[in-house]
Amino acid sequence: MKEATDKIFGEIQPFNPKKVTFPSIGKCIYCDASNVTLTDEHIIPLSMGGVQIMEKASCEACCKIINKFETKFAKEIFGTFREKHRFPSRHRKNRQNEIEVTKVNGDKFVVPLSEFPAPTYMIKMATAGILNGMPPSVDTSFLWQFVVITNDKELDDFTKKYGQDVTYKLRFLIKEFAQTMAKIGHAYVMANFGNIEFEKLSTDLILGKTENPSLSYVVGGSWEILPPIPNAGHIWGIRVLLTNPDTLLIIADIRLMAASSTPNYHVVVGRTRDKNAIQKIIQICRDSELNSTA
Ligand SMILES: [Zn+2]
Repeated sequence: MKEATDKIFGEIQPFNPKKVTFPSIGKCIYCDASNVTLTDEHIIPLSMGGVQIMEKASCEACCKIINKFETKFAKEIFGTFREKHRFPSRHRKNRQNEIEVTKVNGDKFVVPLSEFPAPTYMIKMATAGILNGMPPSVDTSFLWQFVVITNDKELDDFTKKYGQDVTYKLRFLIKEFAQTMAKIGHAYVMANFGNIEFEKLSTDLILGKTENPSLSYVVGGSWEILPPIPNAGHIWGIRVLLTNPDTLLIIADIRLMAASSTPNYHVVVGRTRDKNAIQKIIQICRDSELNSTA
């Protein structure tokens, strides 16, 4: 694949990022429906500390589908992690200060949440299939690997105090993980390029439209786990890639919770061969590069 352009713009958000609002494009960013009630959309879910909002971006039907997997993602993968790190929640009153842990022999006891290492996981992914010339139906997500994310010092201290035989339960949710990454990437691109026509590549996965969508066609990641960036929150960026013959791919880069050792993810959100659209997109990239260096 010939690489003519590889421009990137985006930001490393601080742990408590500024609220940013992107304007509506007057239709649902997932299914294109207009003349329907549209609701504001958090680009990174609020439950994961996302504060960037695209106004009137999602129709009711799409919102329902997305809510379902985002809730699973936030609750079942990052549940205790979010509690411990006080991520935003719509149910603040239910906050706990303690957590019940279970030993291997089934004994249960309660510990302060501040001492609990709250392990969570991320998934190591290979490059998205489309970037390797794979057809959409080929699913290589069976090669993905789970990486447990925890603070080593906290885990050490906890084990010293409470013993080695504490059990940690993590439910592996590959599809919801891929869908959440695809949704975040798609929403960032639509917030920046929503008024330009291009082929949407990740909406089938997001909306679960095909019966067995290949998880690895448009979603991928860095195989290596990147070192922590102190005080960083989430990181996002948008890249464009000019491939043969004259096709522009729009790629979103995402790294969640960069203050921990976490992988990078990429989502191939869009594709266009239209010269006008390509020019507009590259211009936006150039302008934002100028802004960021000014
Ligand atoms: Zn919709």
